Amino acid sequence: MTDIRTGLGYDLHRLEAGRPFVLGGIHIPSDFGPLGYSDGDALIHAICDAMLGALSLGDIGQHFPDTDPDFKGINSMILLEKTVALIKQHGYSINNIDTTVILEKPHISPYMDAIKESLDGVIGIGVDRISVKATTNERVDATGEGKAIAVLASILLIK
Ligand code: MG
Repeated sequence: MTDIRTGLGYDLHRLEAGRPFVLGGIHIPSDFGPLGYSDGDALIHAICDAMLGALSLGDIGQHFPDTDPDFKGINSMILLEKTVALIKQHGYSINNIDTTVILEKPHISPYMDAIKESLDGVIGIGVDRISVKATTNERVDATGEGKAIAVLASILLIK
């Protein structure tokens, strides 16, 4: 019998002046960027949480705690590598990933292909199986006012 597991991930980071804007491992030119203990890559964090959720292995905060100096300022691609390795260790493969980035500014559409290729460099399922969508929050609440970036992710694993 095929063993199929779905996972759900969510992340939000405050945006602050002078921080680099990193999304899916890609630097996007911006005067502000996500605040975080790591590099604040909300897309990767949401994907990792979806992966861990599908495995019923808790959340990203348990695996990579923000009290551990090893993770201070860490490139989130390393967290993604470690989480993908966990999926393999448990005998699953990734069928596909779907994500939605909720962000007012900067506009990320010119970087979508680069982001997908960057993610697939670690995930390795082909860019046609990694979806990154973008929307705004219509200028309401913190995300809509440009004070935060939020990301939703879902994943399907198969054994
Ligand atoms: Mg995060």
